[in-house]
Amino acid sequence: MGGLLVGYRSGMVRSGHCVRPGCGEPADAVLTYDYASSTVWLDDLGEVVGGAWPLCGHHADGMKMPIGWSCEDRRGRSVITLPSHLASWSA
Ligand SMILES: [Zn+2]
Repeated sequence: MGGLLVGYRSGMVRSGHCVRPGCGEPADAVLTYDYASSTVWLDDLGEVVGGAWPLCGHHADGMKMPIGWSCEDRRGRSVITLPSHLASWSA
């Protein structure tokens, strides 16, 4: 898994709350990923499907992608905050 989901444990997901250990903030986004294509997607909350991980806005914006993974932010926000080295991946 390349460390992407280190700290996440299946069975810990509480719908509507960030899955990051020690966080527990209300979820603002959902993360889904495809290991085969090394792609991560961030979507607005409310589109949670199987295998999705709810995240608060802080942790969604702060996602660090392992080398070789790309992140596509599909949230409907007008302002997307990503680290500069990830910006090209959001286009
Ligand atoms: Zn969080």
